[in-house]
Amino acid sequence: DRSKPHCNVGTIGHVDHGKTTLTAAITKVLADQKLAEAKKYQDIDNAPEEKARGITINVAHIEYQTENRHYGHTDCPGHADYIKNMITGAAQMDGGILVVAATDGVMPQTREHLLLAKQIGVDHLVVFINKVDAADKEMVELVEMEIRELMTQMGFDGDNVPIVAGSALCALEGKNPEIGSEAVLKLLKEVDNYIPTPTRELDKPFLLPVEHVYSIPGRGTVVTGRLERGVVKKGNDCEFVGYNKVLKSTVTGVEMFHQILEEAQAGDQVGALVRGVKRDDIKRGMVMAKPGTVKSYDHIESQVYILSKDEGGRTKPFTSYIQLQMFCRTWDCAIQVIVPDKEMVMPGEDSKLILKLLRPMVLEQGQRFTLRDGSQTLGTGVVTKVLPALKENE
Ligand code: GDP
Repeated sequence: DRSKPHCNVGTIGHVDHGKTTLTAAITKVLADQKLAEAKKYQDIDNAPEEKARGITINVAHIEYQTENRHYGHTDCPGHADYIKNMITGAAQMDGGILVVAATDGVMPQTREHLLLAKQIGVDHLVVFINKVDAADKEMVELVEMEIRELMTQMGFDGDNVPIVAGSALCALEGKNPEIGSEAVLKLLKEVDNYIPTPTRELDKPFLLPVEHVYSIPGRGTVVTGRLERGVVKKGNDCEFVGYNKVLKSTVTGVEMFHQILEEAQAGDQVGALVRGVKRDDIKRGMVMAKPGTVKSYDHIESQVYILSKDEGGRTKPFTSYIQLQMFCRTWDCAIQVIVPDKEMVMPGEDSKLILKLLRPMVLEQGQRFTLRDGSQTLGTGVVTKVLPALKENE
C-alpha cells in the first residue's frame, strides 16, 4: 500500500546478537497477521553507485507494512557490511532497531554502530533486548540500564528511548508468544511511534547542483542540472553558492526537454532561466538553492572507508597531510587529509578523517563524497560534522 508514508529502517548491533533472526521474525509475525506482503530479496543490485566504485555490500532488504506505515528494512549480516552501508548510504536509514543480546549486553560493535549512527544523523533508534529466553530478569534489567546510560553518553535520548525485551528466536519458531510474537509486535508499535516519518525530498527547500551554464541570446542565463530536492517555480528567489561566493538571483523560467514547465520537482533534470547573474559568474559545482538554506565550508570532519586493493584501491595506507581530490555532487576540489588520533588508516578500514578543502564549497552533515587520486577512487565518505572556517596559515 503505497499511500501510507514510507520509512527506511534497519537492524544494527553486535554480531550474533540476533539481527537476522529478528528481521525474519518481523516478517513472519506480520505475515501471520496477514499484514505483510513481505518480499525478501538480496539488494546487492540496488546500489549501482557503490558497485561502480567496486565496493560490494551484502545487504538483505525486505519490505513490510504496519497499520500506519510502509517500511523498507535493511539487514547487514556482517560488521564490515554495516560500516560500508552507513558510509556509502547504499541503504539510507531514517531510523533503526538496535539489537542487544541480554546474554552479552553492550559489546564493542554495539558502541561502534551507535557512534556511526549518531554521526551520520540517525537519531532515532528503538532497542530490542534479545535472547531473554536465555537470560534471567535481573540480567535484562541490567542490560537495559547499561544501554540507556551508553546512549545518553553518545547524545541519544537515552532516558526516553523505547526498549522492548523479547526473543526473536521464539517469535520465529512460534513459541512462547509473550516473549515471542507479542514482543515483536510491541517493538513494531514503538518503531511506528518513535521513529519520525522522514521529510520527503519534495518537501525540502529546493537545491540544484549546477552541471552546466549557458548564455542564450535574447533570453539570458540558463543553468542545468538534476533537482536534488524540493520544488522550483518561476518567480522563486534563489542563491548560487560555492567557490567562496553567494550570488543572489531569481528564477524566471523552468524547462525540461525544451518544454516550459510550471514547476520542476526533485528528481527532474531541468534547465532554469535566472535573472541578474551572468554566465561567467556561475560555475559548475555551485548549487542553486533557496536563499539561506545552504553554506560553504572549507573544513569538515568525516568518516571515510578506504577501499582495499581488491576493491580497486591501493595497498598504501592513508596518513596525515596526503593531498587528494574530493568529488561531491557536481564539484571536485583539492583537499588535505588529517588522520586524527592515530598514525595511519589501512585500506579496507574506516576512520574519522578531517578534510581541509582548498576553497569553501557547499557541504552538510550526511553528505556523501569520494576521494580520488587521478582517476582512481581510493575512498568513500560521509560528512559527520562541518567545522568553523580555517584561519590563514592554519
Ligand atoms: P546476527 O549476527 O546479529 O544477525 O545474529 P543472528 O540472527 O544470525 O543470530 C545469532 C545466533 O543467535 C543464532 O544462532 C540464532 O539462532 C541465535 N538467536 C537469535 N535470537 C535468539 C533468541 O531470541 N534466543 C536465543 N536463545 N538465541 C537466539
